[in-house]
Amino acid sequence: MLLLNCPHCGPRNETEFNCGGESHVIRPSLDCSDVGWANYLFFHHNPKGVNLERWRHTFGCGRWFNVARDTISHNITAIYSMSEPRPDTSNGCVGAEVLS
Ligand SMILES: [Zn+2]
Repeated sequence: MLLLNCPHCGPRNETEFNCGGESHVIRPSLDCSDVGWANYLFFHHNPKGVNLERWRHTFGCGRWFNVARDTISHNITAIYSMSEPRPDTSNGCVGAEVLS
C-alpha cells in the first residue's frame, strides 16, 4: 500500500488520491503541428526509476501536487507544490525524505 504525504493534509492512503500523469509537461502553442500535439497528448516518458508525477488528493483537500516516485520500488522521494520547479533527478534519485 502506498502512503502519500499530502502537503496540505498529511499522510494518507493512496486510495484517497488520483494520479494525473507526468509532471512538468509543457502545453504547446496553438499553432503547433499535429505531430507536436500528438506528442503532447499521447507520448510521455515512462522511465524505469524516478518518475515525476502529478497527484490529486481527490477524497481529501482536492488539491494537486507533484510527487517523485520510483516506478520500481514505489518509494516516494519528494513531494512538492505545483509551483515549485522540478527537482534534480539526473542521478536517478531525489535528495529528500523517503516515505514508504
Ligand atoms: Zn490533501
